[in-house]
Amino acid sequence: MEGNKPKSEFGSLRKKAEALINEKANSEDQYSYSSAIQFIHELEVHQIEIQLQNEELILANKNAKESFEQFIKLYDFAPIGYLTLSEDGSILELNYKTASLLGKERSSLLNKLLGFFISEKSKGILNTFIKKVFDSDTNQYCELVVDSDTYSPKYLSLNGIKTKEGNQCSVSVSDITVSKMAAESLEKSDVLLKKSQIIAKIGTYILDFSSGKWSGSEVLDTIFGITIDFDRSISGWVSIIHPDWQEMMIKYFTEEVIGGKTKFDKKYKIIRQNDHEERWVHEQGELLFDENNELKKMIGTVQDITMNLLAEEKLNQLSQAVEQSPLAIIITDIQGVIEYANPKFVEMSGYNLEETIGRNPRISKSGHTSPTQYKKMWQTITSGNVWHGDFHNLKKDGTPYWVSAAISPIQNPEGVTTHFLAIEEDITLRKKTEQDLIEAKEHAEESDRLKSAFLANMSHEIRTPLNGILGFTNLLKDPTLSFIEQQEYLEIIEKSGSRLLNIINDIIDISKIESGQMEVSLTETNINKQLEFIYAFFEPEIKNKNIEFILQNNQSQNELIITTDSEKIYAILINLVKNAIKFTNKGKIEFGYTLRKDKQPAELEFFVKDSGIGIPKNKIETIFKRFIQVDISDKRAYQGSGLGLSISKAYVDMLGGKIWVKSTLNEGSTFYFTIPYHSEHQIKDFETTDKGEIKNEHQIKNLKILIVEDDEISKLLLSKVVSPYAKEILKVSSGLDAIAISHANPDVDLILMDINMSEMDGYEATRQIREFNKKVIIIAQTANVLTSDRKKALLAGCNDYISKPINKSHLNDLIQKYFKKRV
Ligand code: ADP
Repeated sequence: MEGNKPKSEFGSLRKKAEALINEKANSEDQYSYSSAIQFIHELEVHQIEIQLQNEELILANKNAKESFEQFIKLYDFAPIGYLTLSEDGSILELNYKTASLLGKERSSLLNKLLGFFISEKSKGILNTFIKKVFDSDTNQYCELVVDSDTYSPKYLSLNGIKTKEGNQCSVSVSDITVSKMAAESLEKSDVLLKKSQIIAKIGTYILDFSSGKWSGSEVLDTIFGITIDFDRSISGWVSIIHPDWQEMMIKYFTEEVIGGKTKFDKKYKIIRQNDHEERWVHEQGELLFDENNELKKMIGTVQDITMNLLAEEKLNQLSQAVEQSPLAIIITDIQGVIEYANPKFVEMSGYNLEETIGRNPRISKSGHTSPTQYKKMWQTITSGNVWHGDFHNLKKDGTPYWVSAAISPIQNPEGVTTHFLAIEEDITLRKKTEQDLIEAKEHAEESDRLKSAFLANMSHEIRTPLNGILGFTNLLKDPTLSFIEQQEYLEIIEKSGSRLLNIINDIIDISKIESGQMEVSLTETNINKQLEFIYAFFEPEIKNKNIEFILQNNQSQNELIITTDSEKIYAILINLVKNAIKFTNKGKIEFGYTLRKDKQPAELEFFVKDSGIGIPKNKIETIFKRFIQVDISDKRAYQGSGLGLSISKAYVDMLGGKIWVKSTLNEGSTFYFTIPYHSEHQIKDFETTDKGEIKNEHQIKNLKILIVEDDEISKLLLSKVVSPYAKEILKVSSGLDAIAISHANPDVDLILMDINMSEMDGYEATRQIREFNKKVIIIAQTANVLTSDRKKALLAGCNDYISKPINKSHLNDLIQKYFKKRV
């Protein structure tokens, strides 16, 4: 803005002065001298004045020029932007500040529309502003946004007024970006605060103690379910509290908070006023005091924590479920380091929590699970899938256990695996049961196979003696037979019969063992005597085979008496010696025992040694199993049921011992078995004991005997067996007849009562006989040798029992037992 005034005013002034002089000279046609002198003087004065004025003017002009330049400087470089706009919005003038606020060169802005340089959305505002400025005489204001090359926009405020001429407007421009941003962020944070209050369900309040009133935020109203007209007094607050909590809360507020000048911090129940729902809130408040320490206000927050509590409860339930789970639960990080393990895992593994957390589950590795399985597992879970499988683990104390595991990745909402979860069930028992079942199945199949072989063998074993009995019985019918022939046939029949009986006894014994009905009956047993008896029993047979027979009795000077089941020891020894005889054709058979005090506990070790055919090595394991014979084809040559050793083994087991064999093929075998030897057993001097028990058989001949038997052959056999003891024998075939004949013959001494009879069995007949005859001796004879049957017989009133077929010497023993005193 430079010199647009006329270059000099002096030219025109001079002209004006000359005109004035001329005018004066014309008005008076003649100048007087004096007046001319006067006039010249005036002119000179004027001239001086004019000169002075001129000088002043020059000075003023100079000053004005300087001020103008100063103004121009001030305008151009002012810290505030200025610009002049025309009515159509063109920029007529502007200073540097405006140019920099618009982000452009000043020259590029001149005579351009201001609207070009502001943001699109501000253009309307600018137009309105310009219109308002030109329509009014007052100051107008607006805010514009300038498109900025930088990320954040620039805000400008415009203050404008129309010029006097009315065709322009002067505008001042300021940068208000900072304050605008501050206001915006304030607004934002206020909105944020409000929103977060709503989300967190936190309401705020101020309680004024002087008025007893409180005011609260909108959120608080929502939490309490109250409207604007609610009574915002302390009693109003109390009325919101759940009735069960009111008393306690009043006490808390007055005594603890106000009385104790402490913070308000309590979770309590309210009844939300609009829907009468029970809600949980957490209220916190600070007390404010004035300079005199007088209580003024309480400011605080109330948060609706109902959902939090429910979530907490749910979380609690879940964590309880995990904690109390009967399954072991482990959570590891992605490296497999244990971060959590529940109590079941601790119990299962034997490692406590300190030993578990921070370690890898491989602490329980037993080495039995293959590395391939672990590899597969890692591949599965790291690719986001669930892995199922079994692990064989070791507890801390080394005990092995099996677990069935399901391992799955835990993923965050973005689908990234952050942890692994393992759920494990102890399946040791199941595994064992499975194993047992497999073994039982194999055993059952084996038994089945063996039983079939056994039945085939048994059929042969039973038929052979039966053929002997029937065949020779038939031959006996021949009246032309000599006495010697008859005796020979009878001997064969007797032998075949006893062989048959042996087989049947074996079968009964093994079935009793199998069904768990074989019992151990402990009595004082003189071991040496048993051995001597066996020696005496087998000596003739062995000598006959030209085999040496030796009883090795280490305690020969003494008697060894122990409490054991003597019948079972007999059975074992007899079986072993019988086998030795059966499988030995030359050499010798030795048997005996040694007292092994070196063993803990001490035991008696029996042995039966032969120089027979021996047992192949691969069969040694199996010969003690049921129905096993080393070689069925061989066996034809050596009769036997294949049950003897398994019965012996079962007996030895029952007595608490062991049985085994050492054998060399074609050289011989030695069978051993042990029974425990307890210290209370004594080795007695032969001289001092047992003297009175030497058997003294009495000849009993005068008994009146009643035989109750429905089988005619058995009846006949029985009457033959008892005839040496009888003066009279009565025979009946039924229980009813037995009762009748007993009535008629109260002097009967002995009744041999069959148990299994049709119509009325022996138990019932005995019971009824006992009603009128208490003193007659009744001996039950039964083919059933089960203990339960014997007990039943004794309960019915029998004195004793004897098994069929009747063994002569056993019957003799019983008759001696009951009648020897009567002789
Ligand atoms: P068996 O009644 O068939 O003899 P065992 O159970 O007593 O049945 O014996 C089973 C098998 O063991 C016999 O068949 C035989 O093969 C073998 N055995 C038993 N004792 C001897 C022994 N002293 N010498 C050789 N083999 C024997």
